[in-house]
Amino acid sequence: MQETKNYKFWFCTGSQDLYGDECLKNVAEHSKKIVEVFNASGKLPFEVVWKPTLIDQASIRKTFNEANNDEECAGIITWMHTFSPAKMWIIGLQEYHKPLCHLHTQFNEEIPYDTIDMDFMNENQSAHGDREYGHIVSRMGIERKIIVGHFANEKVQEKLAGWMRTAIGVMESSHIRVVRIADNMRNVAVTEGDKVEAQIKFGWEIDAYPVNEIVEYVNAVSKSDIDALVEEYYSKYEILLEGRDEAEFREHVAVQAGIEIGFEKFLTEKNYQAIVTHFGDLGGLKQLPGLAIQRLMEKGYGFGGEGDWKTAAMVRLMKLMSANTPNAKGTSFMEDYTYNLVPGKEGILQAHMLEVCPTVADGPIAIKCQPLSMGDREDPTRLVFTSKTGPAVATSLIDLGNRFRLIINAVDCKKCEKPMPKLPVATAFWTPQPSLEVGAEAWILAGGAHHTAFSYDLTVEQMEDWAAAMGIESVVIDNSTTIRDFKNTLRWNSIAFK
Ligand code: MN
Repeated sequence: MQETKNYKFWFCTGSQDLYGDECLKNVAEHSKKIVEVFNASGKLPFEVVWKPTLIDQASIRKTFNEANNDEECAGIITWMHTFSPAKMWIIGLQEYHKPLCHLHTQFNEEIPYDTIDMDFMNENQSAHGDREYGHIVSRMGIERKIIVGHFANEKVQEKLAGWMRTAIGVMESSHIRVVRIADNMRNVAVTEGDKVEAQIKFGWEIDAYPVNEIVEYVNAVSKSDIDALVEEYYSKYEILLEGRDEAEFREHVAVQAGIEIGFEKFLTEKNYQAIVTHFGDLGGLKQLPGLAIQRLMEKGYGFGGEGDWKTAAMVRLMKLMSANTPNAKGTSFMEDYTYNLVPGKEGILQAHMLEVCPTVADGPIAIKCQPLSMGDREDPTRLVFTSKTGPAVATSLIDLGNRFRLIINAVDCKKCEKPMPKLPVATAFWTPQPSLEVGAEAWILAGGAHHTAFSYDLTVEQMEDWAAAMGIESVVIDNSTTIRDFKNTLRWNSIAFK
């Protein structure tokens, strides 16, 4: 799957020439040391690059424009070691258009009580200089992430790491291209939207193709390629025949292998990173793409069912943001299917007709072949598994007619109480925060879809920051949500985002 660039983040320290050369020498040494600590921490997913101290308008403007033009630079981290008069920053900030972080830190962790004098105070005054700088960024209405704390503190580093991933989401959004195999499911509202506005806001290219154009790629796959992939499936997954004839089962698996290879060739050749299908428009496809789509999602492609291009793009985006997370637990397309309403055990069973990404699987993965009433094709094969436990985030991007809104729900994933031997699809099970009762009410009030882009490896904060950076509304449903406040948030947002 397409790799992202070798992104780096620039560390830009602000000062001025009022303090003399010795002070500026110390400022540079300190900021170099901070960069060294960051890069040696093992906490940050991307390299931090030290830049010479910025002390006047010309150097600030030049550096910010170099950052704009450097393809590998995914953002700037700014820090005012001393006082840096903020009018000097206006032009540079005005011309800069990549993600911005304001690291409000200080070189010394503790006040050096025994030795502190006025020279020390004047050299180490981030508390002072960062407020002057923050003022101008706020006055100019520029979106930035503020991170407060000592740079060597693990929590500060983790927050910076999280922001870096958000910045990748911002940078990569405009490289996402979604292919729509047929249109949205007829009459469905929430999966629709303004594709022109999506391109303006997110940079997404969203194109439709007649299904039979991609079918040609599937039909052109050689038997030997299909056989080799089927062998891979059989070595990797359990086969649950459930009374079916072995040879017939294998033929059904082979159909999905052909779809996986054919679809991937189409996507690669035409440079798409996300795909939607529609069970009502399958053309010459012998089965609804199931196992094939699951495997493509595992490789990093975005997917949305029934023509849901917004969710497909979000799945791709969230896969990019969480790429190479140590001990990653997975990111997938998901759908709210059915409830458990037993008091104390409330939760939502998550699944789809077929298409849940195996990256979220916990334990063995098996292939099943079962009839599917939707789609009017032969019984499709699919990967079946249950998903991991723990905190995760479910998002839904909706089009309200005059704007986009991202609904972000913190959810707690659990194991289902009992196995579901007759259910032929992969599942997850979660309780939305703060509870099913409040979480589902808030979700419905906000207009959230039944489809979500879901990840164990991203946080509410990262998705909120991403939405803010893209200039769209977001609403959060988590343990601090109450319906009264949530209704007010929606009310105020309808004015703020008009
Ligand atoms: Mn669906």
